[in-house]
Amino acid sequence: MGNKPNPLVKQSLLPQGAFDFFMLAEQMPDGVVIHKAEQVLFANVVAASMSGEESGAVLTQRPFLSLFHHDSRPTVENMAHALLQAPEQLQPMEMKWLHRGTKTLPVEITMARCQIGEELVLISLIRNISQRKEAEERILHQANYDALTGLPNRALFLDRLQHELTRAKRSRSRVALMFIDLDRFKWVNDTLGHAAGDQLLREASARLLSCHRESDTVARLGGDEFTVILPDMAHGPHAERVAAQILKVLAEPFILSGQEAFISGSVGVTIFPDDGQELDELLRNADSAMYYAKNDGRNAYRFFTPDMQAEALEKVALEKDLHRAMERNEMVVHYQPIFDLQNDRLVGAEGFMRWLHPKRGFISPEIFIPMAEEVGIIATMTEWMLRVGCSQAQQWRTLKHHEDFFVSLNLSCTRCRELSTDDKIPEILRSTGLPPTALVLEITENILSEDKARAMTMLEHLRRLGVNLWLDDFGTGYSSLSVLKRLPVSGVKIDRAFVPEVTRDPETGLLVDAIMTLAKSMKRKVIGEGVESLEQKEYLRSRGCDYAQGYLFGRPMTYEDFGEFLAKHNVGEPTRVP
Ligand code: C2E
Ligand code: CA
Ligand code: CA
Repeated sequence: MGNKPNPLVKQSLLPQGAFDFFMLAEQMPDGVVIHKAEQVLFANVVAASMSGEESGAVLTQRPFLSLFHHDSRPTVENMAHALLQAPEQLQPMEMKWLHRGTKTLPVEITMARCQIGEELVLISLIRNISQRKEAEERILHQANYDALTGLPNRALFLDRLQHELTRAKRSRSRVALMFIDLDRFKWVNDTLGHAAGDQLLREASARLLSCHRESDTVARLGGDEFTVILPDMAHGPHAERVAAQILKVLAEPFILSGQEAFISGSVGVTIFPDDGQELDELLRNADSAMYYAKNDGRNAYRFFTPDMQAEALEKVALEKDLHRAMERNEMVVHYQPIFDLQNDRLVGAEGFMRWLHPKRGFISPEIFIPMAEEVGIIATMTEWMLRVGCSQAQQWRTLKHHEDFFVSLNLSCTRCRELSTDDKIPEILRSTGLPPTALVLEITENILSEDKARAMTMLEHLRRLGVNLWLDDFGTGYSSLSVLKRLPVSGVKIDRAFVPEVTRDPETGLLVDAIMTLAKSMKRKVIGEGVESLEQKEYLRSRGCDYAQGYLFGRPMTYEDFGEFLAKHNVGEPTRVP
């Protein structure tokens, strides 16, 4: 073979040298094109096949720029001109290459100039980057789309919403934003399992997509929350129609794990620019409106109104204050006496938490307890309340010698996982000195709604300690009878919603009688709450109700007032009750 002249740069274009160079170029995995500004002098087989041709010779009959999609031509032309003017190091650039004149391939082009003999030519290395692009797109897709449903995720949704708002501002058009929440997703997940939950989400997203135009965005925000952007809304009932359609498709039965399940949705709608200008504001609005739809009995849609906003803002402000309420000693416990109906003796008291807000005065526990659950401070609050309640009750027991006096305290049950009260309670009892038998904890059937097994373990543990459990708000839930059988409770409270009716409404009378009979047959004590008249008291007593409380006997009062009340009604001694 001997020494072959180096065919590459800065040599004259000898036939032998050129031949060697072409051989080399044909071996390259990338496309190689030697060209001038316009004319193709040589193209290897890879470049040819990228263009959909058999051989490079075909390409030499075409202008260089025609190999590229017209979007890329100006840049390629500029690169070539720049290089021909002066030797420069150009960065590789991404361009579109034409395949058979129609399809485009993403390529990366590296262009260099070289002198071949007298001629100044350009060498372009063309790398097909389709695979890399696909991988990039896959990663991008994953970052922007929800893997389960294939819908845009929160990140892409926010991006699109911003984009639509900017566009709508320019074109003075309207955009509707909807939040959609499935009403029974948690139930499906808990009872039919996660696979059924996933199936529900996929099916629901397909149904949502069926309600929409191409230009709308349907996205999954996470969990069972979906959202829809309707751009270019005309005035008129378009958003209403879409919302009604969404409710309709979600109300059709779903087949999950072979079972028919009925799921509905709640939809909140807000309109740009009518309800708000900014993205954050619109998101808040749609969320408030959805919350209202849910509260209004579900399977409903609600349009945002300004009073929803006022309420939402007020809630945010209160939540902020609630975080500091404990540190600032704004919480107190009030006590309401409980009487034994059979002998008119004062036997104990129920403790209720009260929040004395510096500006708003007393705030009802019905407002701040759910809030404390939501913001995650219910456990701290409950622990505080138990400590105060137990210690004050023990003071009355010892100082005033009311040895049989008990205190009944409310446990918030919707988030009992966070409570871990079962290991706190023995410590609280020890440090306050209150005997476990002098403590009643009032629970509701909600306690079984989250982690049943854990809740039962906790309740059994408390029972073994000697603590009494009463089932509160009995008769207001759904599965009361079966719950009563399962829970280790020693007492049942008849809800204050029923008591005023017992003497007025025969139906309620029958219901209360039934509860009483049932409880008695299971050897549970019965406690009537909300007793406001002698007539009601007498009704309950005659049916065998054990204890009662209510405004008739005394309203919830401060620690000091209750101390005085106790002094007048010695525990264990019959008192003249109204
Ligand atoms: P609940 O446990 O069913 O409490 C009974 C409610 O009825 C109390 O309202 C009480 O003040 C009120 N009440 C008492 N007697 C009468 C009466 O004769 N007539 C009428 N109409 N009402 C009467 P309150 O104190 O506003 O508490 C409301 C709810 O807040 C309670 O319902 C309970 O679920 C919750 N709660 C109160 N304190 C606490 C607490 O310390 N922890 C937890 N987790 N929840 C609490
Ligand atoms: Ca209660
Ligand atoms: Ca109650």
